[in-house]
Amino acid sequence: MPGEIFDFEWFVHNEGYNWLEADFSLDTVAPVGLPEGVGAGESIPWITVAGEPSSLSLLSRRRYYPLRDHSCLFRVFAETAIDPRGIVAFADRYGLLGVELESAPGRARPFIGTAEPISAWEREILSIRNALVLWDMVNEEDDQALERYLRPYVEAAKSDMEGGDASTGDIAAIAASAGELRWFRTRPEIPEQFTSGQLRQIALSRVQAIVNEHLGSRVSPRILWDDYQRGSWGLYFVPDSLAGAIWIQFAQAITENRDYRRCRQCDSWFEIDHYKARTNRYFCSNACRSKAYRERQQEARNLASTGMSVGDIAIKLGSDEETVARWIRQQA
Ligand SMILES: [Zn+2]
Repeated sequence: MPGEIFDFEWFVHNEGYNWLEADFSLDTVAPVGLPEGVGAGESIPWITVAGEPSSLSLLSRRRYYPLRDHSCLFRVFAETAIDPRGIVAFADRYGLLGVELESAPGRARPFIGTAEPISAWEREILSIRNALVLWDMVNEEDDQALERYLRPYVEAAKSDMEGGDASTGDIAAIAASAGELRWFRTRPEIPEQFTSGQLRQIALSRVQAIVNEHLGSRVSPRILWDDYQRGSWGLYFVPDSLAGAIWIQFAQAITENRDYRRCRQCDSWFEIDHYKARTNRYFCSNACRSKAYRERQQEARNLASTGMSVGDIAIKLGSDEETVARWIRQQA
């Protein structure tokens, strides 16, 4: 019996969030997620709730349902720029990741639920980006891109195992992603020459490893009441944080082979519902579709006012003459 994904609730502080250079590692305070080697007195970047910590209990929060309200949250997160603007904008809209919950028990932390090290965000964003790039390449059957992406890792891992020099060219370029390299190193079964089928298999194995690693202890199975009165139960996967919700959403996209596209009007991601009419496949919403339609009409009129013929306008806008003529008439 498969489990359902719990309709997870999260919150956003209405005051918004700040990118802050601060040292929270003093004394007993040792938030987990602190980059290795950072000692007391050193400043590292954090994302924190805007406003005075002393008045945190007074800060207002907005609740929302990440999985229900944002079906492409994992894609939005993967595209978040790792800089103050990108991360603060994400937090202002969706809240913190909840990664500070992953702390060793008993450790005192100053501002629970209100500060997270940027390094933890960076790790999450890069991981999901890596997995998503591979998953998209497999779905698009882009074997050339897969080859380009995977080849340097395989070669670096090989030359490493054979005691070669792993410090040149492509190999040096990927040395930064040590986790990735470690994974390839531990897979000597990966052949030196791979067929396209094997390429996709390697990519999917890598995606699987990344997703499972990040789901880890962040999503737990629970039995919950569907209806307490009738005594009916359900088995649910419950994320413990926004990070957990994002990873399980990605996991679900993979296992259910979901399809996503960018809206032609606003450029945001949306999930394609294959049961819906074909016209809904290019826009995320009716509002965007109407807006795109109005803009095309307006463009037709603008072109007409420059003296362009109805036939040329129709070709330029990918429409037919009758429609274009009607648009222009409607204005008059
Ligand atoms: Zn849109």
